[in-house]
Amino acid sequence: MANPKLKSVTRPSQNSNVIARRKPAAVKTAYSLAEREEIFRRFSVQRPEPRGELEHTNPFTLVVAVALSAQATDVGVNKATRALFQIADTPEKMLDLGEERLRDHIRTIGLYRNKAKNVIALSQMLIDDFAGKVPETRDELVKLPGVGRKTANVVLSMAFGQATMAVDTHIFRIANRIKLAPGKTPDEVEARLMKVIPQHYLYHAHHWLILHGRYTCKARRPECERCVIADLCKSPEKSWDVPAPLVELPPQVIGEAVE
Ligand code: SF4
Repeated sequence: MANPKLKSVTRPSQNSNVIARRKPAAVKTAYSLAEREEIFRRFSVQRPEPRGELEHTNPFTLVVAVALSAQATDVGVNKATRALFQIADTPEKMLDLGEERLRDHIRTIGLYRNKAKNVIALSQMLIDDFAGKVPETRDELVKLPGVGRKTANVVLSMAFGQATMAVDTHIFRIANRIKLAPGKTPDEVEARLMKVIPQHYLYHAHHWLILHGRYTCKARRPECERCVIADLCKSPEKSWDVPAPLVELPPQVIGEAVE
């Protein structure tokens, strides 16, 4: 008589057959590869050289600016950092400035007390552990106080030219709204976008999506009549399906962003 305790055990050979038959996980997006190619081709015509709107002068000031930008607008951060970076554009100079005077510079930015603490602590860590230089790997960057995965991705992309996807509020909204890479968390959206965006568009995709979200596919009311992908878009919120003329946009004006 068979031992009932063994009934639920799957033999290794059966198990490996099941695994062999399992299809690879489908890439979760509402768009075919041809549609995704076309979406990013149009973004590339509109903004051939997209750039971030946070002002900075070197990798250190970029790390500081991105760390200060959490729950704040780029415009607000730029206003505060213009004077700050003239006197403190290295970790050493930031420590010389000190936490109290740093707080005075950034007090118009939300959560400034905590952010000032973090900037001083990250400056100290850069000197102690990284010879005063901003590290070039994500694992090292996220060790810095106040630097999370999103900040690290922005720094890797803007300072070191790596293709990354820093999922901010605009990217998270667009990925879900138009079903390009739906996900419940920023990490899920990041992983999906890295898979669904055609490789040759990946480097600039982060900025294209942010700028599309900031100026066209806005949070409260997407301006579909001004959208170059209105015919391709599969958002239930879409109010227009004729694409706007595909022309290169004037250079971005820093300070224009409102969201
Ligand atoms: S058509 Fe409307 S909803 Fe779709 S991407 Fe454009 S602005 Fe956003």
